[in-house]
Amino acid sequence: MTTLRQVLDILSSHPILVDLITLADMHRIITLAVKIKNDILAAQPPDHETLVPPPSLPPHIALFLAKIMNIDAHLMNTLWEAIASTVWQKAQQLDMAAEQEAWQAGRPDSGDTLWPPLQQCTNPNCRNFLKQLVRERDGLRHVTLFTFTGPVRTFAAHLTCTACRTTYYPNYSVHQGTRLYYSHPLSVIQAAEHHYIAKPLVDLFIGMMLMSW
Ligand SMILES: [Zn+2]
Repeated sequence: MTTLRQVLDILSSHPILVDLITLADMHRIITLAVKIKNDILAAQPPDHETLVPPPSLPPHIALFLAKIMNIDAHLMNTLWEAIASTVWQKAQQLDMAAEQEAWQAGRPDSGDTLWPPLQQCTNPNCRNFLKQLVRERDGLRHVTLFTFTGPVRTFAAHLTCTACRTTYYPNYSVHQGTRLYYSHPLSVIQAAEHHYIAKPLVDLFIGMMLMSW
């Protein structure tokens, strides 16, 4: 992996990069680049060694990343030089299984933990209405999240308002026995007590049900 000193040395050839780019920017561009590694590889000559990052980005990807970073495209190859080996190593190492293993080893929860979309009580009759954060009730439940890339073991959290006892789940809230689904779009759908489906996968099912006849 590249050290911060090495990154700084490379970026110093264009001091404007050192002044402009934040750590959050670096995290964002590395995350994006890891996800489009195969797009980068697809533009390389057939004899390119897949374990070695290309010395420069394909023009369309350089333009895309430069636009995301809000920098001139000609600076993108310097930035790429600084992050290329990290991107390549991350893409190789952090596959789904490794990511799951990392979460399990390091934390009691998961990178995909399903939380209620609200952080404050939305019961208009509650004295905590849109004031204090609702608190976790009884830990995290083991659930399975079905995604395009396969099932993921994760957790679902529910939070309870200490004032009105409304409990907030990932898809709905429950107050005095009445379940109320959230009105805004959901990213996951609860299909069973411990099973959730990612919205894009639900959309695929809907499309197939409509078209497969
Ligand atoms: Zn409340």
